[in-house]
Amino acid sequence: MSLRFSLAKAAGAVSTWGLRHVARRPAANLPGKIALAIDPSLLDELRGKCAQGSVITVGTNGKTSTNNLLADAFEAAGRTIICNRTGANLAAGISSALLQQPTAQWGVFECDELWLAHVLPRLRSNYVLLLNLFRDQLDRCGEIDRIQTSIAGALAASPDTVLVYNADDPLCARIADEVPNRTVAYGLDESMGLAQNTVTDAQMCQKCDGMVRYHYRQYGQLGDYFCDQCDFARPTLDFAGRDITITPAGVTMEICGPAGCESVHTPQPTPYAAYNLVAAYALCREVGISTADFQRAQDAFNPRNGRLQRYRLGGRDVLLNLAKNPTGFNQNLKIVEADQGPKMVAFFINDQVADGHDISWIWDIDFEELAGQPGTVVFAGGSRAHDLAVRLKYAGIEAAVIENIEDAFSRLGALVAAGTLPADAAVYAIANYTALPPVHAALNAMEAAEPAVAPAPTPAPIAEAAGASAAPTSCHPERSAEGAEPKDPATSEPSATPASLASEESPEPPVIIAHMLPDLLNLYGDGGNVRILEQRLRWRGIPVEVRRIQHGEAVDFSQVDLVFMGGGPDREQKLASEQLLAMRDELAVYVEGDGPLLAICGGYQILGRQWLWGDELVPGLGLIDMETRRPGTSADRLIDNMVLESPLATHPVVGYENHAGRTYLGEGVEGFGRVVSSCGHGNNDDDRVEGARYKNVVGTYSHGPLLSKKPEVADWLLACALERRAERTGTPAADLAPLDDSAELAANASMVKRLS
Ligand code: GLN
Repeated sequence: MSLRFSLAKAAGAVSTWGLRHVARRPAANLPGKIALAIDPSLLDELRGKCAQGSVITVGTNGKTSTNNLLADAFEAAGRTIICNRTGANLAAGISSALLQQPTAQWGVFECDELWLAHVLPRLRSNYVLLLNLFRDQLDRCGEIDRIQTSIAGALAASPDTVLVYNADDPLCARIADEVPNRTVAYGLDESMGLAQNTVTDAQMCQKCDGMVRYHYRQYGQLGDYFCDQCDFARPTLDFAGRDITITPAGVTMEICGPAGCESVHTPQPTPYAAYNLVAAYALCREVGISTADFQRAQDAFNPRNGRLQRYRLGGRDVLLNLAKNPTGFNQNLKIVEADQGPKMVAFFINDQVADGHDISWIWDIDFEELAGQPGTVVFAGGSRAHDLAVRLKYAGIEAAVIENIEDAFSRLGALVAAGTLPADAAVYAIANYTALPPVHAALNAMEAAEPAVAPAPTPAPIAEAAGASAAPTSCHPERSAEGAEPKDPATSEPSATPASLASEESPEPPVIIAHMLPDLLNLYGDGGNVRILEQRLRWRGIPVEVRRIQHGEAVDFSQVDLVFMGGGPDREQKLASEQLLAMRDELAVYVEGDGPLLAICGGYQILGRQWLWGDELVPGLGLIDMETRRPGTSADRLIDNMVLESPLATHPVVGYENHAGRTYLGEGVEGFGRVVSSCGHGNNDDDRVEGARYKNVVGTYSHGPLLSKKPEVADWLLACALERRAERTGTPAADLAPLDDSAELAANASMVKRLS
């Protein structure tokens, strides 16, 4: 035992004692962090504390639940364990657990995807259980393939580790394909018949330039898939779940493995619980835990850690759950929607480091499904409550911004008093990573106070202050500048509400929006821009048709009034580039004819002469005189919030950048704006110019989505589209009536305030 290790161990012990007894705080991370600072190879030494070895659970969704269930199953089988049960899953959390808990037979750890590369080669675990990979915290990870590479590298560095993986996920299957380790595939061998969501990850084949197709898809990119061009397909399942039934009492299925088929059950009634069930079962069978012990652990599983936790408060059923990415959120919405009764739903989105600073992904959640459910009252909370309220608004859901869950309950009391909701309306609280603990603590406190009658609720105002922003009358910024000054939101006339402007039918020809390649360029919530453009027309009673031009499909740009291209990962962007290059001439005619085009990040890069994919030079469309270079590796990305000044906007523009490429504009090409915040870079590391403008084309690195906090730019694009429609169809040009943009402006103001 080295002196360094002894010192690290002592520091871990002292800090654990101090945190627990003096600061009265949990000691899940800090002791490990201090000890690792003293001895970076700490885990090598601590490995010996798990006499028979260890298991590591990784994956985007379901880590904590699955790992805790595994821990219970190990214990039910009479095995002693060391486990990071609270979900502290970086090297510091795993080290803390190893330092604090007594020597045991097994280590059962959950580990963050990007930290596996540090942890696994040191622990040399017997098994890695890989659950799934979804877009999550892309501001930390860049693009999903970076996580894949990192996990594959970790496994290659620990070649004796067995990889037990979800073969229904093409992203996990690709890792299994590449590593030298022994692998065990599990999956669900029949369709659960679920309604599908709009955006899924990994639509492009993992091996070639083909697209992934499905015999059936469960949710996200999970399912029975195959490539339309090569032999990439779901591998043969070593553990296959069949005869799956999902009822309110839970999920039951038969799992067929090497030793035969057995029936298992989990009391959690969700499709993702079905995946966690087959994952944990496969791992348990591999390590020799009997099905009886496994089932006993399942039946008793009730971690009360805020994940799918039920309460009974004041005569109401309350359900709390974590959701931190579009796939998780969509699954939660399915639970909420299944309850047809009156209910209050409170969403909480924070943007701290552990959540990811970028919350553009909330636009990839299908909140639209919740709109129109009768007797549903929705609230938006968390540090990005205003952004959430905007997202919900464009889904057709009016959500007041709340301070915290207590505020939601007091507003619920007012709604009950007013007769809007019955006293026993169900409550759903869904929160992302750092937003969850305060909600969890508050609900636990309320539960502890039961059965005492809750204090009479104080009625609170629900509506936010109204405001409106001026709608431009022309797509030419110089003309709008000559026109009326933008109205002060506080003093402007009350504008028409979405409902009063909507018209059921109209004889006008629709405005045609072409959303280019949403199956390839869809990674950063950019599709939200299209929803915003579409809704802002609908709210004004202007008919609109969105054409989603998928990979391999053609489009006639002469019949289009607005073109949109989003951002995407490098591989997908390259395939998109190739397809767009084949349409280059028609697109050039469209642009030269003043057709409006909004292109974000990867889509923006494609507009230039060329861009770099790794070292490979990819020809661009050459619609704007610019090019994109790539000085660093994929780790060297420009990732941050940014505030811009733009001639197209009277208020500051707030965006979020996440790109490896650096764009340089040609002589005389105007930027979309200038970065005025201390954070954020824009086009490159040098000139603080952000994006580009040419005719009615806007290219920008701003995710967010851009238009969610910039209705003015949305309306500028729409004004251009209306002029084009008038010319194209020979119908009179329509005006854009002002809309109530108070929610968008509040979201903008709250971010500008934070970033300046
Ligand atoms: N793949 C491109 C890059 O990293 C674009 C990324 C994006 O669209 N966010 O530069």
